[in-house]
Amino acid sequence: MEKISVVVPCYNEEKALPLFYEELKKNITDFSRNVEFEIILVNDGSKDNTLNVIKSLSKKDDRIKYISFSRNFGKEAAIYAGLENASGDYVTLMDADLQDPPSLLKEMYKSVTDEDYDAVGTRRVDRKGEPIIRSFFARLFYKLINKMTNFEMVDGARDYVFMKRNVVEAILSLKEYNRYSKGLFSFVGFNVKWIEYQNIKRVAGETKWSFWKLTKYALEGITAFSTAPLLISSGIGLLFCLISFLLILIIIFKTIILGDPTSGWPSLVCIIFMVSGIQMFSLGIIGQYLSKTYLEIKKRPLFFIKDSNIEK
Ligand code: UDP
Ligand code: MG
Repeated sequence: MEKISVVVPCYNEEKALPLFYEELKKNITDFSRNVEFEIILVNDGSKDNTLNVIKSLSKKDDRIKYISFSRNFGKEAAIYAGLENASGDYVTLMDADLQDPPSLLKEMYKSVTDEDYDAVGTRRVDRKGEPIIRSFFARLFYKLINKMTNFEMVDGARDYVFMKRNVVEAILSLKEYNRYSKGLFSFVGFNVKWIEYQNIKRVAGETKWSFWKLTKYALEGITAFSTAPLLISSGIGLLFCLISFLLILIIIFKTIILGDPTSGWPSLVCIIFMVSGIQMFSLGIIGQYLSKTYLEIKKRPLFFIKDSNIEK
């Protein structure tokens, strides 16, 4: 008998969860004769009735396990907790809002069992129903991050993945505090098959991602996997040194040969502004890495569990 663990991070999903459960159930009954399921719902400190919904679901169906955090620790922490507690030979990650169709599970399972893949990832081929600006910045982000890292991050990749045990162990062994799941999944490598599907709107409830939160998340992704920004700021610094050196030569030449009287202080002010701006920018970049290091070095647990029905 093989076991598939379905890990679902849930934050304020009281409306979506019952629908999600019904849909998942439909897809996992008669899945295959020698496969059993385990559904791990991680309540990430929801402020609504999510925990009660989860508990009542777990009473109805003993395949449902739950972990409830002491407060909201973020999706990445919820994913980690779920993976850590999953006991399946295969583990899949899914959103609670049905944006990740459970109907793909069969195909994913086949790919890892019959086709010699270690994992299956999913990507959406379009960004329908998403603001245009958001799509634009998302594309830009993938272009940038792929230039800066030496492994590929797939544009439009979702967190919906299906993994063999060895991939799960690899991801769990990355114990960093600043977790960027899509990056971690690409980082560990292995033989990954990509399945594409159209973007689906969430069934109920609201997205937790504002534009600002996404921007922060994107920057985190970059700092977590690349030190290229540091190199860029050093490059800009060097470039400016060269320019100023040339300017000094020109000024000396003009003063000595042409006897140019002192003038041009407005341009001086502009230069001071620009250079100090660049300095602040570079300091900011260094600060980003420093703050990440600071958070890593404290080695704080990723989450605290308040309630769970999983016995360890
Ligand atoms: N989520 C979570 N903790 C958070 C934010 C989100 O566990 O702090 C969960 C959420 O319940 C959902 C998944 O992560 O199952 C994806 O969130 P959402 O649908 O809001 O993101 P989107 O699909 O819009 O990117
Ligand atoms: Mg969603």
